[in-house]
Amino acid sequence: MSVPQWVEPLLSTTFFTTCLTHRDAARSECNMYCLDCNGGDSICFYCHSSRHKDHHVLQIRRSSYHDVVRTSEIQKVLDISGVQTYVINSARVIFLNERPQPKSGNRMAHACEVCRRSLLDPFRFCSLGCKCLFWFFWGTSDCWNEEKWG
Ligand SMILES: [Zn+2]
Ligand SMILES: [Zn+2]
Ligand SMILES: [Zn+2]
Repeated sequence: MSVPQWVEPLLSTTFFTTCLTHRDAARSECNMYCLDCNGGDSICFYCHSSRHKDHHVLQIRRSSYHDVVRTSEIQKVLDISGVQTYVINSARVIFLNERPQPKSGNRMAHACEVCRRSLLDPFRFCSLGCKCLFWFFWGTSDCWNEEKWG
């Protein structure tokens, strides 16, 4: 599976801003991303139900100020194997982007292959962002080669 066109813009999009078009409405927080338009812009509830009505839209959620997405939603459109999953509010999610490393004295047995953040076995990446960096560098998610990373 190659990296879909929308992955890179999705990862660099800022979410949870207020929609400029619908800023006076109650649900104007931009917490969705349209995979069909792939405009590199987050959209709100009203944008979704008007301009992006029949489009494939991904809902972004928030956990401790970090953007997460439910695995049940994203795995329909993307291979997320190897990415660390978490259960937050009884839903299984993955983080979109790498998070700052917590200070840790001891070396962990399992670490993200890109940013070295410590992970729970048997995952390879801390976030979708790290998996995609890996994808971009080595072409495919499968071409894992121990020698490249030492
Ligand atoms: Zn809107
Ligand atoms: Zn759209
Ligand atoms: Zn990482």
